[in-house]
Amino acid sequence: MNQPKLNLSPKVSDEVRKTTCYMCACRCGINVHLKDGPDGKKQVAYIEGNRDHPVNKGVLCAKGSAGIMQVNAPSRLRAPLKRVGKRGEGKFEEITWDEALEIAATRLTKIRNEDPSKLAFFTGRDQSQSFTSFFAQNFGTPNYAAHGGFCSVNMAAGGIYTMGGAFWEFGQPDWDHTKLFMLFGVAEDHDSNPIKMGLGKIKARGARVIGVNPIRSGYNAVADDWVGITPGTDGLFILALVHELLKAGKIDLEYLAQFTNAPVLMNMDEKSPEYGLLLRDENGKLLVIDKTTGKPAPFDQKGVRPDLNGKIRERGVTHGTVFVKMVERYLDPAYAPEAVAERCGVKADKIRRIAYELARVAFEEAFELDQPWTDFRGDHHPTMKGRPVSMHAMRGISAHSNGFQTCRALHVLQILLGTVEAPGGFRFKPPYPKPVSAHPKPHCKVTPGQPLDGPHLGFVRGPEDLCLREDGTPARIDKAFTWDNPMSAHGLMHMVISNAHAGDPYKIDTLFMYMANMSWNSSMNTTGVMNMLTDTDEDGEYVIPNIIYSDAYSSEMVAYADLVLPDTTYLERHDCISLLDRPICEADGAADAIRWPVIEPDRDVRGFQTVLVQLANKMGLPGFTNEDSSAKYQDYADYITNHERKPGIGPLAGWRMGEQGLQNGRGAPNASQLDNYIANGGFMVEHIPDEALYYKPWNMAYQNWAVNLGLFDSPQPYLFELYSETMRKFQLAAEGHGERQPPDHLRERIKTTLDPLPIWYPPFEDGHVDPEEFPIHALTQRPMAMYHSWGSQNAWLRQIHGRNPLYLPTKLWDQHGFGEGDWAMVTSAHGAITVPVAHQAGLNENTIWTWNAIGKRKGAWALSDDATETTKGFLLNHLIHELLPPRGDGLRWANSDPVTGQAAWFDLRVKIEKVPAPAESLPAHPPQSAPVPKGPSELTWKVGQ
Ligand code: SF4
Repeated sequence: MNQPKLNLSPKVSDEVRKTTCYMCACRCGINVHLKDGPDGKKQVAYIEGNRDHPVNKGVLCAKGSAGIMQVNAPSRLRAPLKRVGKRGEGKFEEITWDEALEIAATRLTKIRNEDPSKLAFFTGRDQSQSFTSFFAQNFGTPNYAAHGGFCSVNMAAGGIYTMGGAFWEFGQPDWDHTKLFMLFGVAEDHDSNPIKMGLGKIKARGARVIGVNPIRSGYNAVADDWVGITPGTDGLFILALVHELLKAGKIDLEYLAQFTNAPVLMNMDEKSPEYGLLLRDENGKLLVIDKTTGKPAPFDQKGVRPDLNGKIRERGVTHGTVFVKMVERYLDPAYAPEAVAERCGVKADKIRRIAYELARVAFEEAFELDQPWTDFRGDHHPTMKGRPVSMHAMRGISAHSNGFQTCRALHVLQILLGTVEAPGGFRFKPPYPKPVSAHPKPHCKVTPGQPLDGPHLGFVRGPEDLCLREDGTPARIDKAFTWDNPMSAHGLMHMVISNAHAGDPYKIDTLFMYMANMSWNSSMNTTGVMNMLTDTDEDGEYVIPNIIYSDAYSSEMVAYADLVLPDTTYLERHDCISLLDRPICEADGAADAIRWPVIEPDRDVRGFQTVLVQLANKMGLPGFTNEDSSAKYQDYADYITNHERKPGIGPLAGWRMGEQGLQNGRGAPNASQLDNYIANGGFMVEHIPDEALYYKPWNMAYQNWAVNLGLFDSPQPYLFELYSETMRKFQLAAEGHGERQPPDHLRERIKTTLDPLPIWYPPFEDGHVDPEEFPIHALTQRPMAMYHSWGSQNAWLRQIHGRNPLYLPTKLWDQHGFGEGDWAMVTSAHGAITVPVAHQAGLNENTIWTWNAIGKRKGAWALSDDATETTKGFLLNHLIHELLPPRGDGLRWANSDPVTGQAAWFDLRVKIEKVPAPAESLPAHPPQSAPVPKGPSELTWKVGQ
């Protein structure tokens, strides 16, 4: 027989190293199979999921396995770069690290000694924020934040202000017990493997899934029921569900009375300067009426039975409960299904049916776990009551100018059903739950040559915590924590460049950014931002004088930097996925993880965090320097191992040095800690005891476990805030009470939008453009196989998404007579794009959409000039502006949520028309030069000898 001899089981690798994926933000555990290359260096042969890892339990997605193409991408930067051409041209010379650090440190030291606020340091999707903020704090600038302001701060802040935690990294559905799962505005790349695994689990059990999203793709395509809602109306839909549940009496009264501020007494006297504030005793404890005695009592007093209908007259003022106020609000016929149906694009019957289904599953399918527990009042509960309804939401409901209130409304819905932290419902992941009171407040006091007076970002409790200078002007370049957006917990990265360009509130010297593609897909008004970055003043100097940028790849933003600090890829670096930051915990346990260099870089690049340590050492920043002026840390690995945020608490909680030896949680630094992580597969898990697994905010077993582990210093039981007193304090200021007063032009807006009980109002863009002229909503979603712009240089992933058509619903497709291969011009109040279209039936009839960040600029990412990403791909960002269109009041209002400042990407309204196909998508920007050569036109790949 002449058959070839095939080796059907070739050796996959010479060695396996376990680390953490970073092809998206889920951070699954991976086994990286390595072979020895021709030069003796290790090469990545294959990546598989780590079956022991708490996040993915062995599951790996397409992005994860394509990591091999990411670490070998031709677009990787090769050495530090100094600009030689004009800004934006992309012309650089390679310099040494010594030169690069010297240039950066000299300029930054001067700024620090004169006025630290002249540095704006913003990081994109980096997940070392506890470290980067530590650098910025020691530098002394108030101008630091990460990307939350243009991503999903409404979701995070709405959750924390309402119930001490939100979705994704903060919590998850109880996949083991839930019977009805509702998803709101979740794109399919989000929380990718965990949600896919969870959906698989609950569908195998026969649980129902309801997807609320204008677009039926991804998770919504596998939902049992799809609600193709009109963008920006989720809050109204949710409050209609609340209305129906209240009307039917299908709410968990016992849960509300025990665990929320529903029974807390509030000042009901409209004439009082304290109208709407909550009643407290002399120790500052919230007061309720105890049903047993009929008298006021602190909410947490042993044996107290809070009365939801309590009332008291104190010092001539009537106090009633939050509950009564809330019921009055939401029984209003304005929230009835019939009243909201047309606006939401959802039939009244359907709203009613979903409300019925929620109530039926929550109450008729309630169950009990045979697990006793003890609450913070000392009451013993023989079982844990389960309410098997869970929810999850993300950017689709939050990236609107009414997003914060919508996110709060969703949490109120969950709480009314008694599903949060109940078996079958939504469960927090450590270090959450964490009340607002356990978070820092924002800090902004600048002293030349000194650190900032505290952490930059935090949670304001009232006007006294705003970041304002003595003359009332914003202390921060992004105007976070000002009257424009008082509760901007993540800052406003999307406003930094336009504010710095305008010199409003002040001019800066250096814009220092990491992993943020601001001259392309991470900005609204993309062309405008490019112009701001290259604009010069009357002296011919750049209006933003100095730009330092760090990225691993030749992204569009690189061309706009004066100095480029090349980062490593995720398999060549140390990272720390920390409990101080955005950890990888599960609801059943606390977990953290590392990345470590499983391969060595073949280029002259350094991990950005190590570069920050080296910069800090050169500048002698306080937190990085010993008393004898020597450096505390040599690199990021050294920092991860030896830094203590407070005694016994460091970036990693695993394998710390206790009195009896190694232990998880608190403990002294352990020189072998990283080796311990590597030996354990790159992660640490500490499981929560059974009696502490649910009801965590009120469960003393959990509270004590969290204190032992170092998550808190003392137990922090608290009440969920259906009613936000913080928001009421801002309203009171707008009504004229208190010392700190908002400017007059903002009074009305604060009064209306910072309502302490969730409300819905139309997205701001609706009031700034003519809805008749711009009748269509336009959205983007990230695809399952790409994460922002990270995938476009990846040879395998480009085969899945090499271009991004604009998807049109049947109604618009037919109305405009589109056919396959057609193009459309899409126009907003701000700009126009011309792009290829495609038909999608499963789409809200007035909504069009496309994949986010597939379109690329010629010259970037080492793509060839005829790559489909540059000729057929496009960005919707060109249609969106950071300011709303003028409406004749002499002001330009920010295109942001008025509470948090979150960028309102999804408020966009457009019109479309069919046009002849141009040669390529418009606008077409001229090619950039790139500091790396183009990639090969064909991919041949062989690893090992
Ligand atoms: S979901 Fe996929 S890309 Fe994201 S971390 Fe997990 S394996 Fe990596």
